[in-house]
Amino acid sequence: MSIPFQPESFLILVVEDDRLSREILCRALIAEGYRVVGACNGEECLSIYQQQHPNLVLLDAMMPTMNGFDCCSQLLALPNAAQTPVIMVTGLEDTASVDWAFDAGATDYVTKPIHWPILRRRVRNLLEKRHFYQQLEQANQQLQQQAIVDGLTGLANRRYFDECLQREWKRSIRDRINVSLILLDIDYFKAYNDTYGHPAGDRCLQRVAQTLQRSAKRATDIIARYGGEEFAMILPSTGLDGAIEVASMVQANIQALAIPHTGGLPAYGQVTISQGIASTIAHRDGQSSALIQWADKALYHAKHMGRNAIAVYSAGQVISPTAYPHL
Ligand code: GH3
Ligand code: MG
Ligand code: MG
Ligand code: MG
Repeated sequence: MSIPFQPESFLILVVEDDRLSREILCRALIAEGYRVVGACNGEECLSIYQQQHPNLVLLDAMMPTMNGFDCCSQLLALPNAAQTPVIMVTGLEDTASVDWAFDAGATDYVTKPIHWPILRRRVRNLLEKRHFYQQLEQANQQLQQQAIVDGLTGLANRRYFDECLQREWKRSIRDRINVSLILLDIDYFKAYNDTYGHPAGDRCLQRVAQTLQRSAKRATDIIARYGGEEFAMILPSTGLDGAIEVASMVQANIQALAIPHTGGLPAYGQVTISQGIASTIAHRDGQSSALIQWADKALYHAKHMGRNAIAVYSAGQVISPTAYPHL
């Protein structure tokens, strides 16, 4: 959504050693709706800039102690200041002065006596451009975010999950360290939708997603929405024992949510999940999709054990399926 140009959202710093000129300029800008702050020399300009981060600077060239040109280059070298528009305001019109100003990084140059209708328009143009680029940047960030995030749950989406699994698979080969994958599927979720309605189903998915996020403690863990009511957790540098620990934590936390589910087949009276775990040290000849297949086999097994269960795939078969204590 585009936000209209609002002068009051911009702060302009007016740097001018002559008090009367400074006041006239400040008043004219305030009348346009901008917020304005004044400085009477270069040192004050730099100090105010760092405290208030103005959006544009009008800078007098001729000032005692630090001239406007030096002030301009020092200002633009401050942290996060490089993109700030600086309009040099000066009585100097010779080639060397104009070059000096632009070499110091000034965006524009106006001569004294100030012709207000022109300066007014130049200020407005620079701020409009800045406003436009900021909006563009925001929209870009939003798009980038949307490309990797699932809209309903805020978890990583399938596309990002694939990318991460590939990356962690390679890391596992390189570092000779385990990578684990948990696939999770909500039990009897079709019946949940049929009983409570699709919007309630969506809220249930959101609560399960939040619970997964709470259950995975490491910053490197990746939690994704794998499909409709299926989720996935990639646990880098984690062996089978660690993955079983995380899955058990998830199972307990979902149980603690106690979301009622009395419709259809389920015997537990509340929402439950089934989980399949696979863990391996990746091999150069293998592919990351193998880890998905193994975890999926284990998940299938957990479903066949009666759901609300965790099963593990290891060394070519489903082993030690741990029936989770029934509610
Ligand atoms: P099982 O215990 O074997 O996993 O049975 P299930 O009913 O959970 O599995 P099934 O694959 O038969 O049904 C999955 C359901 O998930 C059907 C579909 O409508 C629902 N679903 C998928 N995505 C969404 C969603 O974004 N929102 C809602 N509310 N429901 C969804
Ligand atoms: Mg001066
Ligand atoms: Mg499913
Ligand atoms: Mg299901």
